[in-house]
Amino acid sequence: MTQEVAMDSTKLSNVHIVCIPFMAPGHILPMVDMAKLLARHNVKVTIITTPLNAIPFKTNINKEIQLGSPIQLLEVKFPNVEAGIPEGCESLETLPSMDLKENFMIGINLLQKPIEDLFEKLDPFPTCIICDKNIPCLADTSIKLKIPRIIFDGTSCFNMLCNHNIFASKELGKFSDLDEFIVPGLPHRIEMRKSQLPMIFKSSTSQNLNAIRERIRKSEEQAYGVVVNSFEELEDGYIEEYKKVTGHKVWCVGPVSLSNKDYLDKAQRGSNNLIDNANEYVKWLDSWPQNSVIYICLGSLNRVTPKQMIEIGLGLEASNRPFIWVVRKAYRWGELEKWILESGFEERVKGRGILIRGWAPQVLILSHKSIGAFLTHCGWNSTLEGICSGVPLVTYPMFADQFYNEKLVEKVTETGVRLGAEIAVHFGDEDEFGDGFQVNRVNVKKAIEKVMGDGEEKNEMRERARKYADMAKKAIEEGGSSYINMRNLIEDIMHFK
Ligand code: UDP
Repeated sequence: MTQEVAMDSTKLSNVHIVCIPFMAPGHILPMVDMAKLLARHNVKVTIITTPLNAIPFKTNINKEIQLGSPIQLLEVKFPNVEAGIPEGCESLETLPSMDLKENFMIGINLLQKPIEDLFEKLDPFPTCIICDKNIPCLADTSIKLKIPRIIFDGTSCFNMLCNHNIFASKELGKFSDLDEFIVPGLPHRIEMRKSQLPMIFKSSTSQNLNAIRERIRKSEEQAYGVVVNSFEELEDGYIEEYKKVTGHKVWCVGPVSLSNKDYLDKAQRGSNNLIDNANEYVKWLDSWPQNSVIYICLGSLNRVTPKQMIEIGLGLEASNRPFIWVVRKAYRWGELEKWILESGFEERVKGRGILIRGWAPQVLILSHKSIGAFLTHCGWNSTLEGICSGVPLVTYPMFADQFYNEKLVEKVTETGVRLGAEIAVHFGDEDEFGDGFQVNRVNVKKAIEKVMGDGEEKNEMRERARKYADMAKKAIEEGGSSYINMRNLIEDIMHFK
């Protein structure tokens, strides 16, 4: 268990941590939450992002400043012209086409110079960079300016250990796509299919993307350590093992979404102007009994095809239970909207089903006592936010680390029920593979019935979920494991040579 080291308060004011998130909501949101937590320890924190990415956080950061936190939000211009990205697009989910993914990564790495220019103006000069692993150019900045760089991976030790061990075993070539294999060297028996692994296990046809990936891998190795949005009690055995096999320094400081304590913080997380809608959702949720409502959200990128979304909708309808379904910006939205409007779906579920077409105040909704289950795409933030809410998860992973996260809640915490997706549909591959069989209305209804209502197994699962939520809350509070890890991270930064 973590032990807190004594903190030299006189040196705290010399610490200046610069946090630089990758430009996508699933990366910016936890980085901003973590930055707020760091500044609450009285060290100076600067978040650097681009103007459009800064907008949703300004109110929240100003509130932290008013409460006395030494935090600031600074902007650098996104190099749209140089990278060949249309003006107005500064974030992965706003790209008009996934063909621009490579340009976007090029644009991210062109930020090195403007960021370094900004560093020169910072007072005190930065003592540490905490950056997303997907901005490898900052490895060069760190070496050039002699500032330690710590990576914020945005995922769990479970996930990082799976990736590391699968790579290290060099066994993957033996398997065909649908073969199940045991991930070597883990505390639990975890079986995966090759077809469910993240994109990093596939070689891209683009030489540029392969080169960027290799640069990311190298820059990870060069980093001083990794900050992880997770907590020790959740990842028993995985953190130590990951440290052992990689030699990396690791600080688990999450769940960082719990930094949003009051109503306004939760309602405005990720959007400044949601408050009226949030009040409406809460009023509606107030009208339902405890643990009775299903919340469905498939992330900020939401790449599920209309065909799959319609199956989810029909499964929800068949479940006959109240629900809040976030359909925002679904992939090929026009087709889904047409179905919603023309099929009479909304009319049929009127009164017991709400559709959110914009950004949902997810953390606020999940914290409501009437929520009984969360149907999630298993992005790491959503998975962790689901764990914090103390309800079972119904899992529908799609790509990246999402199949690992599904395994964690199915096999380790035993608080999740699968919808049955077997094959990753990688980001940008939806047109080719997205309509293939993944889920259907029958599976959706069945999975919902496994977690909602009463019954011995369901009650036990809910009890396990509640215990993990309690542990998560304790971890982040003063004296908890994540709180102490954050103090130790700051102490390490103060003494870095
Ligand atoms: N989120 C939200 N409202 C939405 C969609 C997403 O607040 O309508 C937040 C969610 O709470 C989480 C993040 O966006 O913090 C999504 O991150 P995750 O890792 O779950 O998935 P990604 O979007 O990166 O696939």
